[in-house]
Amino acid sequence: MRSELYIDGQWVKPVKGGTCEVINPATEEVIHRIAAATAEDVDLAVKAARRAFDKDGWPKLTGARRAGYLRAIAAGIRARQAEIARLEVLDNGKPFPEADWDVADAAGCFDFYAGLAEQLDNNPEEAIALPDARFTSKAVREPIGVAGAIIPWNYPLLMAAWKVAPALAAGCTVVLKPAELTSLTALELAAIADEAGLPPGVLNIVTGAGSVAGQAIIDHGQVDKLAFTGSGPVGSKIMAAAARDIKRVSLELGGKSPFVVFEDADIDKAVEWIMFGIFWNQGQVCSATSRVLVQDTLYERLLARLIEETKKIKIGNGLDEGVLLGPLVSKRQHEQVVAAIEKAQQAGATVACGGVRPEGFDKGYYLQPTVLTDVPLDSAAWVEEIFGPVVCIRPFKTEEDAVELANDSRFGLAAAVMSKDEARAERVAAAFRAGIVWINCSQPTFTEAPWGGYKESGIGRELGRWGLDNYLETKQITRFASEDSWGWYIKPEAA
Ligand code: NAD
Repeated sequence: MRSELYIDGQWVKPVKGGTCEVINPATEEVIHRIAAATAEDVDLAVKAARRAFDKDGWPKLTGARRAGYLRAIAAGIRARQAEIARLEVLDNGKPFPEADWDVADAAGCFDFYAGLAEQLDNNPEEAIALPDARFTSKAVREPIGVAGAIIPWNYPLLMAAWKVAPALAAGCTVVLKPAELTSLTALELAAIADEAGLPPGVLNIVTGAGSVAGQAIIDHGQVDKLAFTGSGPVGSKIMAAAARDIKRVSLELGGKSPFVVFEDADIDKAVEWIMFGIFWNQGQVCSATSRVLVQDTLYERLLARLIEETKKIKIGNGLDEGVLLGPLVSKRQHEQVVAAIEKAQQAGATVACGGVRPEGFDKGYYLQPTVLTDVPLDSAAWVEEIFGPVVCIRPFKTEEDAVELANDSRFGLAAAVMSKDEARAERVAAAFRAGIVWINCSQPTFTEAPWGGYKESGIGRELGRWGLDNYLETKQITRFASEDSWGWYIKPEAA
């Protein structure tokens, strides 16, 4: 396990020497300490990234050359996949098969953006048709500059990949701050990039507290672009900081995503996707479908099946065979989710199953997967993100009611619908006010497709070609191609 900062191609101790604890959420043991960067370290990292961008020529390399580094990073991740996945489990608590999948996805993300970096070489200029024959014009795409990337703890390596891969592909240089709870695999990413021969300063990793290291990134005058995934309140701070000196900004924030199940849905398939939509990664997923709406004629039967299957989920240490629900990431997260369940009960909700620590788990931040019914529409449980394995479920009568309830949220990250009637599913998908819509499933995420939210769920899109656009500026180059004089101030001599 690494503990130092990765700045300008070197492993360095933080200037002020601070550290943060790394706690295994399955055992509550302190398993390691990592560097706690301060503004001084961030300044060194930003200056290294600045130099790599302005002087060392990273943005001037061909896309194909940059793609070579990205593919080498992808190969480096794959070569150590099981080891990195194990580290992710120790740090975050998620079940090993999920971590293994995340690590494979992270490698795939680097390969995908390698492909887009190569395409930048093939199509660097776009001719613009002008109505004045004396001029020609073209548009070119150029990297924005130094990107400051700040990421959360729920998908530690994958979120790093979602930011670093497109930024490097575009030709930006990066200062990445992982979440203080889960920085281990981001440090391994730096080691892999180093082994891949990535030039110094192109990727810098500073670990430490959001309020210190993160704040120093967003306040730094030489950072050109801020890319953030995390909570709404911090996203709002980042947007305010970006506004001060007009930094480019993209935000991926929270959600309270609905899942609408119509009476013609297959009950077992619906139950499984509902479970995947909220219990995967212990429900600590921004796009989790945490509000389930079921047509009234199916509701009672589906609820009974959901409770039956939810009770069967194997809870335990993510490294143990067959475990499908690990601990929450931290003591604080556990306390917050338990408090949210208690508050829901006070507001009149019923805990249909779960709601408490599972028996036999005295250590570790474990919580039973929880189903809440009778949740008032104006209660926090229905309205606010809980970010834990807690689903609210309620019946609806008509398609119109379902759409209205689904869209009645200040968030708009994701939404899902399940029905055998294709026309109805398409109609509801079109009516959802959300950036990501799933039909007959919930959560599958592909690097190729755009990811991001409507309303308070964020600004901008990650993944796919949209993810590359986050790190590119557009420049027009217009030429006066005529031999004639312009003739505004200085009149051409009359012939
Ligand atoms: P958080 O906002 O507290 O922290 C996210 C990151 O921001 C961390 O690295 C943290 O250190 C940093 N940070 C905190 N204060 C900062 C500051 N003042 N300046 C700069 N950086 C600062 O969120 P979290 O607790 O890590 O994650 C949970 C939240 O993130 C949930 O609300 C969830 O919905 C959201 N999330 C969204 C997505 C998405 O794709 N939309 C993905 C994952 C998580």
